[in-house]
Amino acid sequence: MQVGILTIGNELISGRTQDTNTSHIARELNIQGWQVPILMSVDDDEAAIKTALDHILAQTDAVIVTGGLGPTTDDKTTEAIARAYGLKLYRDETILSKIKAIFDRYGLYWAPSNSKQADFPEGAEPIANPVGTAWGFSLNVKGKLIAVLPGVPAEMKRMLSQGALPTLRRTFPEAAQAVASRTIKLSGISEAEVDQRLADADLEGQGVSVGFYPHFPELRLVLTVRKPTEEEARSLLKIAEAQVVERLERHIFAYDLETLEGTVAALLSERKLTLSVAESCTGGLITDRLTDISGSSIFLERGAVTYSNLAKTELLGVPEETLRVHGAVSEPTARLMAEGVRKLGHTDLGLSTTGIAGPTGGSREKPVGTVYIALADGRETVCRKYLFRWERRRVKVATSQAALTLLKR
Ligand code: ATP
Ligand code: MG
Repeated sequence: MQVGILTIGNELISGRTQDTNTSHIARELNIQGWQVPILMSVDDDEAAIKTALDHILAQTDAVIVTGGLGPTTDDKTTEAIARAYGLKLYRDETILSKIKAIFDRYGLYWAPSNSKQADFPEGAEPIANPVGTAWGFSLNVKGKLIAVLPGVPAEMKRMLSQGALPTLRRTFPEAAQAVASRTIKLSGISEAEVDQRLADADLEGQGVSVGFYPHFPELRLVLTVRKPTEEEARSLLKIAEAQVVERLERHIFAYDLETLEGTVAALLSERKLTLSVAESCTGGLITDRLTDISGSSIFLERGAVTYSNLAKTELLGVPEETLRVHGAVSEPTARLMAEGVRKLGHTDLGLSTTGIAGPTGGSREKPVGTVYIALADGRETVCRKYLFRWERRRVKVATSQAALTLLKR
């Protein structure tokens, strides 16, 4: 079953407003198992709206429309749809009084043009707006469904999930399928390598769709399964997930809405381990990410941004000699930083970063993107060297990602 999306508004086609409605609706439709073969955006213009609807409905069973439902003269969607299908407009007096009541409650000026928001094409079924005054509606024409929602994203989202999608399922019950999906988050591996390692599992052949979504610094793998019943969908998804885990376990750090910092926080809290962090090139980013997690004070003792050589020596006790002989960006310095901050914070673990984020400061032996990350636990200190090839901000983010990943082990 095919569903198109039409967003209406001069602000969209002029590029002043980014069309986030389309991506939100497309994602929701896909998750629920509807195919989306076409997306369109047009001006607030009657002829353009009619042409777009004809074009979309020629290849779909339904269309979801947003925008142009407000009270002003540039809001033309309702009239355009009515005229396109030769329908008269009717005014719903009950809805009109509800809209008026909202204006009264907030002491807003009532312009007569507001009445227009209670006008619907004949045969339309109004869709309530729980967060605003512009009602939407759904309409059946020639066996096709048109669902119309306001343009304001917060209003559109509520009315999509509470009004338009349920109407879609009711209108085409035979097409409604149970959908189960799982997002698997990976880092330290390329899309091509993931693809290659999954090849022998033939997930697509089993009826599992696999989507790759690079989301720097992570890679998201989304498995989606559609089946007649929820139970069937969930059990196939479970089998597929196990096959992915078996092949990529080392690179997986979280699922669905989980984050790397959340996973690390849960792990450290569970193991009752405490942590101190000494950051050079990440400038506090690691501690920033960890403190995004509520309850991080359980394991995080302190974070020090030791950017200068002096700070590394004074605060962490890295000998001047080490800095002179090996440099601030070196394995010996990273190790001594991790051990130094661990001692300073009296914690189980000490984590450190030192690197050249660029774009200046690189040399032939240590090019821009050279990073050392060390983790000390009192028994041993592990140190890893990385060479990142991105611009400054991305090098910092990738370093924080690699450092947090090291904590997960
Ligand atoms: P109202 O005018 O009553 O707020 P409406 O249905 O007429 O509702 P529009 O006038 O089309 O909505 O849009 C209102 C605002 O919502 C726009 O100025 C824009 O900021 C935002 N908006 C509209 N369409 C989109 C879209 N496709 N993506 C993101 N934002 C949008
Ligand atoms: Mg408007």
